Amino acid sequence: MIIVRFAPSPTGYMHIGNLRTALLNYLFALSQKKSSGEDFSFVLRMDDTDTERSKPEYEQAVYEDMRWLGIDWDRLEHQSKRLDRYHQVLEDFKQRGLVYACYETAEELEYKRRRQRARGLPPVYDRAGLKLSEEEKEKLEREGRKPHYRFMLAHKETCWDDLVRGHCSYNGAHLSDPIIMREDGTFPYMLPSVIDDVDFGITHIIRGEDHVTNTAVQIQMFEALGAKVPVFGHPPLLTGREGKLSKRLGSISSRELREQGIEPMTIASLLARLGTSDPVVVCHDWQELAGHFDLTRFGRAQPHFDTEDLFKLNPRVVRSMPLDQVNVHLKQCGETEISESFWQAISPNIDKIGDIAEWKQICFSDITFNLTQEERSFCRQIIEFLPSGDFDDTTFGSWMAIVKEKTGKKGKDLFHPIRLALTGKEQGPELKMLLPVLGREKTIRRLQG
Ligand code: GLU
Repeated sequence: MIIVRFAPSPTGYMHIGNLRTALLNYLFALSQKKSSGEDFSFVLRMDDTDTERSKPEYEQAVYEDMRWLGIDWDRLEHQSKRLDRYHQVLEDFKQRGLVYACYETAEELEYKRRRQRARGLPPVYDRAGLKLSEEEKEKLEREGRKPHYRFMLAHKETCWDDLVRGHCSYNGAHLSDPIIMREDGTFPYMLPSVIDDVDFGITHIIRGEDHVTNTAVQIQMFEALGAKVPVFGHPPLLTGREGKLSKRLGSISSRELREQGIEPMTIASLLARLGTSDPVVVCHDWQELAGHFDLTRFGRAQPHFDTEDLFKLNPRVVRSMPLDQVNVHLKQCGETEISESFWQAISPNIDKIGDIAEWKQICFSDITFNLTQEERSFCRQIIEFLPSGDFDDTTFGSWMAIVKEKTGKKGKDLFHPIRLALTGKEQGPELKMLLPVLGREKTIRRLQG
């Protein structure tokens, strides 16, 4: 069974980068299920050990965003509730000599790094803590220093076959031993994440390439825990116009996108392909999208993301949305459902679901629109040429054929006053489609004025 996870830190509202990680994991699992029939489970893990910055409202926003996207989780976990377990592993590691105490302050460490850089050396921690004798440690503690703990990396090649980057290899000798417990007793991200991945049986980890070096470190931790190492995939991070995802472009929260009428499937359709050389396929549900999804199609180059791309794609997603989905949407917003003929008529003219309301108002309310005298008299004149019988999509054509013949009008002179009389707008849905929606009575009333 495939088990994936999404592990946001609830320290802010989710932006497009977070959504992308969630949806790539979900799509990957779904696509595997589609191709191999293998079932999957999705774990949502709150990385909420930073008690200062983690906020309940951000956590709620994660749930809301995930539900909005339509990504369901099978298991929910909070790192803040698992501290005992992390302590237990730390103790075990201490006993096995896998961790060591260090006493440098942040300033001292920074000073060391600066000196290394000045000498042209990589800023790798020098393991000074490891060389301290028991007496030296006691002395430091008597001076009021508290230890932090580092995990001792084996100085060997750590390799994995990345689903996106191919074969990866890092030598532990070129990496700093990671701090796994701070002097105030809190745990940085690195070790708890591995413990959780082991305990929850995570089989595949898909996350941004900013975690690639963490992976080399974490693989050694998986090994220290005697666990099977999951499969990793690190797609490149998105960039904005200025090279990195700027506040204006990339950091737009999913909440703002939602408020501006962007559909979850717009985001999903775009992000499932951004970073591959395959064209975007507009999809209306996750299953369909998963059928086209292949993580190995993602390249190494950083894909360019622009929020504008979502606004450009959204009309394509909305206009091709099946009616039942549209109605689910409308019901959720407390609106009445719409008919197939109305949807067919107006869908080519809307950019977001919110635009439906205006056309409902135009088509179903009892209003008439202002016309010039000349336009009004023309509209009144042509009422008598309306074909008899129920209106359908041939009515407008037959009507116009007679009107052209009787009045000699054509083109804009002919259609413009009719459109104004029927909708009050210069532009809009095809009149041929609108006529059956309005029906005979309302059409006549509006032409009459
Ligand atoms: N909370 C971490 C982050 O948001 C999770 C990283 C991971 O997927 O391991 O970066």
